[in-house]
Amino acid sequence: MFTLILFGPPGAGKGTQAVKIAEKFGWKHISTGDILRAEVSNCTPLGLKVKAGMESGQLVSDDLLIEIMESAFLKYSTFSGFVLDGFPRTLNQAHELDKMLMKHGHAVSLVLALEVDKDELARRLLQRAHDQGRKDDTAEVIKHRLVQYQHYTKPLVDYYIVRDVYQEVYGVGTIEDIFNQLCDAIHP
Ligand code: AMP
Repeated sequence: MFTLILFGPPGAGKGTQAVKIAEKFGWKHISTGDILRAEVSNCTPLGLKVKAGMESGQLVSDDLLIEIMESAFLKYSTFSGFVLDGFPRTLNQAHELDKMLMKHGHAVSLVLALEVDKDELARRLLQRAHDQGRKDDTAEVIKHRLVQYQHYTKPLVDYYIVRDVYQEVYGVGTIEDIFNQLCDAIHP
């Protein structure tokens, strides 16, 4: 089973590219942000619990995320690959993901990081707020989400470099160009 992590800050284009990669390779795209947003809009107990935190740009607790991932893995276990988008976001989540995969004789296959500078990220996120009306894409919350990324998520770069699965791709250009570069790096 191929486990691809699409890595990068909010606004780097992970969601757009994850959909295309999953379609090309026949893998399952798992976006923890999408899963959580669906819980919020369906007003489930989990959704009610995480709503305020998500809307203010906080990370949701590791325990909840690990539960979500475990059930997603079980649900989609027949797929030959996963494209993880938005997970892991903390070192603890990365450890738990390794444990989860190891239980089934698997490991993280590849981490592709989309590199986009801060000004471009802020511009894209504000554009997305305008287009999609996401509550966590206001200027204030964007700033907070980028700080959270630097603090909790950026340290994962070293974690995956050490494991020799980390590769960067420049995330500015046309969607197709970036997609082609990502595909060139994937050898299932
Ligand atoms: P995203 O769509 O990936 O930007 O995620 C939107 C929001 O969902 C984040 O700002 C967090 O509040 C929450 N979220 C998604 N994935 C995770 C994760 N792996 N760990 C913690 N919180 C998450």
